[in-house]
Amino acid sequence: MTVDLNINPLTNWLTDKKIPLVIAGPCSAESEEQMLATARELVKNQKISYFRAGIWKPRTRPGSFEGMGVEALRWMQAVKEETGLKVATEVANTDHVEVCLEHGVDLLWIGARTSVNPFSVQEIANALKGVDIPVAVKNPINPDLQLWVGALERINKAGIDHLIAIHRGFSSFEKSPFRNQPLWEFPIELKSICPDVPILCDPSHIAGTRDLIPFISQKALDMDMDGFMIESHINPMAALSDADQQLTPNALDDLLNDLIVRLATTRNEEFKTQLDDLRRLIDDLDEEITQKLSARMDVAEKIGEYKKENNVTILQVKRWEELISDRLSTATAMGLSEDFMRGVLKLVHKESIRRQTEVMNNQKV
Ligand code: PEP
Ligand code: MN
Repeated sequence: MTVDLNINPLTNWLTDKKIPLVIAGPCSAESEEQMLATARELVKNQKISYFRAGIWKPRTRPGSFEGMGVEALRWMQAVKEETGLKVATEVANTDHVEVCLEHGVDLLWIGARTSVNPFSVQEIANALKGVDIPVAVKNPINPDLQLWVGALERINKAGIDHLIAIHRGFSSFEKSPFRNQPLWEFPIELKSICPDVPILCDPSHIAGTRDLIPFISQKALDMDMDGFMIESHINPMAALSDADQQLTPNALDDLLNDLIVRLATTRNEEFKTQLDDLRRLIDDLDEEITQKLSARMDVAEKIGEYKKENNVTILQVKRWEELISDRLSTATAMGLSEDFMRGVLKLVHKESIRRQTEVMNNQKV
């Protein structure tokens, strides 16, 4: 499925064609001094196109720093006047949009706690009718691709054609080294649904800690993303919000210089032929895997019939445990990771149980 959006491609609206596009600045606007001191350093970096700062901060619990509000918009203006950087901030309702437009904010973004709510997104879209401004939509905090696509559609239908998606990871119960799980399949799928919408990665909110930011950033470029929104603060340790995931402007410069920008394609003919050969090999192997899976499911159904005739339960815990340990030891001996193989086996087992349940009950499940 693709969604028909009216999009102005990134390269057309960045006159200086800075690709990857970089939006950088503090998590929150804290004071005029902090904003200007950060911006004065960031503007030295040619790779940065927009200065960001949160003015209204959506906080999980009340009592934490909730942003400086409208007053901070004057500091934004000061940054813009002094450094010439374009400025960006987060909006969550009509009032935010209106006051940002009055203060000459150049780019608006919709945060992860707002893009999750179609009522709020529609309210923002209505406030944007007839306005020509780039709008970025962060993925919703929960992994729901349709909500993300829906939010982009609502903003696009309001007439915004300078649209950006921002991948900032997803909340999860699962233990993970990241603050928000990257779940790369979501931005990849978004690219295939909305091929014209540029996607930026927000490695700060995915990583949650400075040391994981380079890894996430390189991975984003390897996934062909179009740039970054990164948090940068003149004195990250003293930041009033998200202190652990902000880089100094110097550290950000190092990061951007160290990243390897790969090309989506190349003119090198030998490379292309070799790549084609390898891709054909992958196609053949995928077909083999599909055939084997199909054959395996047919056998599972036969076992289901047999169990039914003999009145035996579908789930045989002991057999399943033995099978897992046997398959895992073979897989790891063959160089596959235990986590990966466990995931594959879980899926295969789930499908076998579903097929056997159909046989047992004589109806589709
Ligand atoms: C932010 O960019 O500071 C922010 C609050 O982000 P998110 O909406 O991704 O949590
Ligand atoms: Mn933040």
